[in-house]
Amino acid sequence: MRRAKITIVGAGNVGATAAVWAASKELGDIILVDVPAVEGLPQGKALDLYEASPVEGFDAKITGATSYEPTADSDLVIITAGVARKPGMSRDDLLNINTGIVKTVSQTVARFSPNAILIVVSNPLDAMVYVAWKSSGFPTRRVLGQAGVLDTARYRSFLAAEIGCSVEDVQALLLGGHGDDMVPLPRYTFAGGIPITQLVSPERLTEIIRRTRNGGAEIVSLLKTGSAYYAPASATIQMAESIIRDKKRILPCAAYCEAEYGVGGYFVGVPCILGKEGVERVIEVELDPEERKAFQSSVEHVKQLVKSLKV
Ligand code: NAD
Repeated sequence: MRRAKITIVGAGNVGATAAVWAASKELGDIILVDVPAVEGLPQGKALDLYEASPVEGFDAKITGATSYEPTADSDLVIITAGVARKPGMSRDDLLNINTGIVKTVSQTVARFSPNAILIVVSNPLDAMVYVAWKSSGFPTRRVLGQAGVLDTARYRSFLAAEIGCSVEDVQALLLGGHGDDMVPLPRYTFAGGIPITQLVSPERLTEIIRRTRNGGAEIVSLLKTGSAYYAPASATIQMAESIIRDKKRILPCAAYCEAEYGVGGYFVGVPCILGKEGVERVIEVELDPEERKAFQSSVEHVKQLVKSLKV
C-alpha cells in the first residue's frame, strides 16, 4: 500500500517542526518546500530529520525541494509559507504580503496535486484560508485552517496548570476567528467531565481567557524574532493525523460555513469532524445570546478582513 504523501510548504519554524511531529507519528512521506532563494534549506532540514529516523524508529521518506515537481499527487498539503509576526505586529499586519504568497502557493499546489486536502497555517489565518480556497478552486471540504486546535491547546494547558490536573483531562471548545476576538465557551469546557465553572473561580477563568486570547502575542514578545511554532505545528499535525488516518476527530478548525451558524460563506473557527474527505461535517452547537453575540462580532472581523483582500 502506498504511504500518504504530505507536502509542507514553507520550511521555516512551523513547517519544519510540523515535519518532525508528522515523521514521529509515521503519517507518511514528507516533502518540505521553500523558495529558490533559500536553496538548500528545505533539503538540509529534510535530510537532518531523515537521519534522526533510525534513532526515533520511524519509517518515512523525507525530502526537501524548491520546486513543486516532487510534490506531485500529494494527499495532504500544509501551507506555512509566509512571514511571521514580530513584536508589536498583529496577525492582520501580515495580510498583504501573505495574501500574495498563499495565492501563488495554492495555485501551484492545485496544479500539481489536484486531489489534495489543504491545511492552511499562514496568518492572518481566517483570511488566508479564504485565499487558498479561491486560488486553488478546491471544494470547500478540502480546504481548512489551523487555529482552533492551537487556541484550545493554550486554553487547556493554562486550565490544567490552574487546577493542578493532567492536561489530558481538560476538554474545551473555542469558536470564531484566530485572534483577539476568539470566543471561548466556558459552558463547553470540562475537566474530567466536571464543568470548569465548578473548578475555577470566575476571576481566574476571566484571566485565563485573557491570557489565551493573548497567547500568540505572549510568545512573540518573548521570542522577539518570530512567532510560536512548537504548539502551532503540533496542532496542525493533529488535524493532519485525523485526515490521513480517517479518525473522524472532532476538532475546532477554520472551516467554510454557509448556512452553518448563519455565517454566509466565510471560513471561521467551528467544531468539525475531520476524516479522509477533509471537513466531513461542521457541528453546530447551541449558543446563548451572549455567546452568539461574541461569535458574530468575531465573524464580522473575519468578513472585514476578507472583504479587503484582492483575490
Ligand atoms: P518562518 O519565517 O520561520 O517560515 C516561513 C517560511 O516560508 C520561510 O522559510 C520562507 O522562506 C517560506 N516562504 C515564503 N514565501 C514562500 C513561498 N512563496 N513558497 C514557499 N515558501 C515560502 O515563519 P513561521 O514561524 O514558520 O510561520 C509561518 C506562518 O505561519 C506565518 O504566517 C505565521 O504567522 C503563521 N503562523 C500561524 C499560526 C496559526 O496558529 N495559524 C501559528 C504560528 C504561525
